[in-house]
Amino acid sequence: MRHLYADFIDRVAKPMRYLGGEYQAVVKDDPAQIAARVCLAFPDVYDIGMSHLGTKIIYSLLNRDPRIACERAFAPWTDMEAELRARGLPLVSLETQRPLCEFDVVGISLQYELTFTNLLTLLDLGGIPLRAADRAEDATLVLVGGPTASHPEPVAAFIDAAFIGEAEELLPPLVLAWAALRREITAGVRTRRDALAELASRFPLYVPALYATETDAATGMIVVGAPLDPRVPARVSRAMVADLDKFPFPSDTPVPYAEAVFERASVEIARGCTEGCRFCQAGMIYRPVRERSPQSIADSLIGGVEKAGYEETGLTCLSTADFSSITPLVKQLAGELRKRGVSMSVASLRAYGLNEDLLDELALTRISGLTFAPEAGTQRMRDVVNKNVTEAHIEESSRRVYARGWHRLKLYFMIGLPTEEDDDVRGIVETGWRMLGIGRGLIGHRAEITVSVSSHVPKPHTPLQWCAQEPEPEIRRKQGLLRQAAGAGNNRGGRGGRDTGLKLKHHDSGVSFIEGVLARGDRRLADVIEAVWRAGARFDGWEEIFDLERWTTALAAHGVDVAAYLGTRPVTARLPWDHIDVGLEDGFLLGEYRKALKGRASPPCGKVAGMLIHHTNLADAEPDRRKLVCYDCGVACDLSKMRDDRLVALRTLGAAQPTVRTREVVVDATLPALVDVSERGGGSPAEGSLDLAGPGGPAGPAAGDGAVPRDVRNRETERAERVRLNGHHHVGAPYSTYRIRFAKVGRAAFLGHLDLMRLLARSFRRADLPLAVTRGFSPKPRVSFGPALGLGVPSLGELMDVDLEHIVPGLRSWEIGDAPRTELAAEDVLDRLAGVCPPGIEIQACTVVRLAGHPLAPAAPAKPDAGLGKLIDAVDILIQPAADGMAHDAARLQRIAAALLARPEARIARGDKQIDVRALVLEVSVIADEAALKLCAALDWANGPLLRARVRATADGSAKPSEVARALGVWGPDDPRAQHALVARLGVVTDATRAVPVVPASAPSVAIAAD
Ligand code: SF4
Repeated sequence: MRHLYADFIDRVAKPMRYLGGEYQAVVKDDPAQIAARVCLAFPDVYDIGMSHLGTKIIYSLLNRDPRIACERAFAPWTDMEAELRARGLPLVSLETQRPLCEFDVVGISLQYELTFTNLLTLLDLGGIPLRAADRAEDATLVLVGGPTASHPEPVAAFIDAAFIGEAEELLPPLVLAWAALRREITAGVRTRRDALAELASRFPLYVPALYATETDAATGMIVVGAPLDPRVPARVSRAMVADLDKFPFPSDTPVPYAEAVFERASVEIARGCTEGCRFCQAGMIYRPVRERSPQSIADSLIGGVEKAGYEETGLTCLSTADFSSITPLVKQLAGELRKRGVSMSVASLRAYGLNEDLLDELALTRISGLTFAPEAGTQRMRDVVNKNVTEAHIEESSRRVYARGWHRLKLYFMIGLPTEEDDDVRGIVETGWRMLGIGRGLIGHRAEITVSVSSHVPKPHTPLQWCAQEPEPEIRRKQGLLRQAAGAGNNRGGRGGRDTGLKLKHHDSGVSFIEGVLARGDRRLADVIEAVWRAGARFDGWEEIFDLERWTTALAAHGVDVAAYLGTRPVTARLPWDHIDVGLEDGFLLGEYRKALKGRASPPCGKVAGMLIHHTNLADAEPDRRKLVCYDCGVACDLSKMRDDRLVALRTLGAAQPTVRTREVVVDATLPALVDVSERGGGSPAEGSLDLAGPGGPAGPAAGDGAVPRDVRNRETERAERVRLNGHHHVGAPYSTYRIRFAKVGRAAFLGHLDLMRLLARSFRRADLPLAVTRGFSPKPRVSFGPALGLGVPSLGELMDVDLEHIVPGLRSWEIGDAPRTELAAEDVLDRLAGVCPPGIEIQACTVVRLAGHPLAPAAPAKPDAGLGKLIDAVDILIQPAADGMAHDAARLQRIAAALLARPEARIARGDKQIDVRALVLEVSVIADEAALKLCAALDWANGPLLRARVRATADGSAKPSEVARALGVWGPDDPRAQHALVARLGVVTDATRAVPVVPASAPSVAIAAD
């Protein structure tokens, strides 16, 4: 079926964002099997949404149930939205091209308040009325979820319901129940309101239309009052999954076609967090901490690599350093992944969790730098926000990172925190300079640091929810202080020029201002959101697009008192999110708020007091029966089970004894002795920090001193070598070159060259066809292609040459070791690759070629094969003229072809230049009848005769198919909305002086390729 967007999709950026068909995408098209259809509509662009772990979890979870068909849609980028509106077309799902309004449920994940305007775009383009009150009785259910759904009042008018909490257990039965209720609505048995009340009585669902609202006297805010239906609870309690292992992290989710932000097999290793950072909403609403078992993590991670072919993996959770067996886990997984040439990153590290063993493992990966979040620049502020790190931890971690050869460190901070003073703000940059000084002392001027500073938004359901958000002008003043402090430091480079080792980044203060209004807002904001959206607001979280004036104008026009929204809330006031119960005791947040204002920290819970990270081995863990800290926050952890589970994890990982370190990291002897901040941790930061370096900062060479100890220099070189050797243990294995012919048709025609390279590299991995790689720090597969193909131009015959290592039959490539290898048969390569390529990439033929210089190339006098660059000198293209009201019969096409060939030149514009297409066209002919029928079928074109042109393709120049169609006069009108000629590549030509071969009857496999 021709895609609804086929006629214009080549005119938007990254067309593959909208076409679907990815490897492992699930298409269920048997209506008899399907009881409920769900579309997960992500309110941001494909590149972001495809990296979102929650969407992966839910997509896989729902599709596992044979009765549910779950599909995806993403917010269209502005160019695509303009095209859809110009043509009156709806936003459709990637899987079956259904408009959103045709699903039983549209599920929208709200991660961030600044996606609210995109929520409206999804509804509007999906054919769903913006306001819930305007929807038909049996309309699709607009269901939101995610962290921002825990304070949904600003979007209450647009949604039918908010799912509160974690979806795994209850979302599948919920969508089935709604689909059944919807059928009853259609049959006239129920009203929509009654069905929603019924649903809310059975699931953790907040339905805004079923509650009265009141004005809180203390703040003037609209708050949610009594339920309007007896079946609906006064407070909606969240859903929580007690055992994550019941729902293993999926390893079979769609592999993005277009470049996604994170293209890796990422696994959520735990949910919740024990740290209690007072600004962190996720740390509060996802309590308690629950860890996946090491076996479950390994299965998901390795499964993701093998099924999808990813070359990168990641472990992620709110604080990976707090995962109870992180060090043995990383060691074990990294070892398995290295064998496969796959790298691993670990997200959300803490400045105190970086023990030597963990860093030794990470140093063997290709990650170019590490990131920590000290959050505040002085100990006083870190105590206010309960960030359990000290200056000593940050220094120690910086030292350990730079000492292992990394030269880039990134530190995240916030400004606008409660009780913050100017010295706290300047302290941020000063911390950055001190850490850079440590790096300079160890690796000289290659050391770099990035200080990234965001503005604090006091979020609902956190201890700081009652605090005022700092006014935007004050944030801008503080950003000025930061720049001043960074500038002063920059001038102390000491070498006559500016020292650019410290880079300061801060967020747009206007974005944080609006985020605060929306996060802390009430139902009155719906009119503002709609007005701003109608005025053109889209992708407000993207600073380059965000327009503050649009928002301030709309806020003023609707009489919103911004100061009241952002000011301090009395602790006795009712808040617009009080009716959502995230599981915390009422007094817990308040107690933490009061401690924050007094600058008193609360050490992490779930750990022994004074310990920062968990024991990494059984010998230490088993005898330690000390009490674990608990503040009775309301989620009622079973602390005995927590302790036992950690022992089980260590046992599973075989972490019996402390590691005997084999690699010693030598640090300059002039530096003070290292303090182990891994397990002992130095106690709570509130109890005083360890003074490593005295008031003047760390000892050792000062910032600007370029002296680099020789052993450190060597370590840096050594790291690159270790990474290379560890990541690709089989570098140097014998290999052969394979010439593969393939078609690139349908959706795949819109893959850009880099996307195609990535896709093919993953396909080789999935097929366990070991790609030989280049040497160096970032090895690349050794693949070459024929002449570039324009975006959107399908091809029935492309060529690539690829080097594949020899293998041992019966062994996976990473199991081979030093065993003697044999060459893969070409037929084997073809079969295995064809079995794992996504739709649109059709592997047609494979041969072994013997290139000059290769040990297996035939000895003289036989002539070795030539590489693709020397081999191909022309391409054959197909053109179906644009419809212009006249029949394009074969005779007419013959006249058009003859007319071009008779001309001495045919000049057309290419940008600012003119090119002579006639000089590049070697031959033009017509394909008709049976051969044309087969080609048109292969290309999904309407049947008709075709023009075929043979066009020179050498380093001296070539012409694009569209340029040849222009020169022939069959391209069509220049109106961008008009139908143009269809163009495709038939194949590449290896000897252009050859006569044009007759198209064989076996088309579409008719590429004139070098075989
Ligand atoms: S119940 Fe205790 S240990 Fe569990 S999350 Fe709450 S404070 Fe922490």
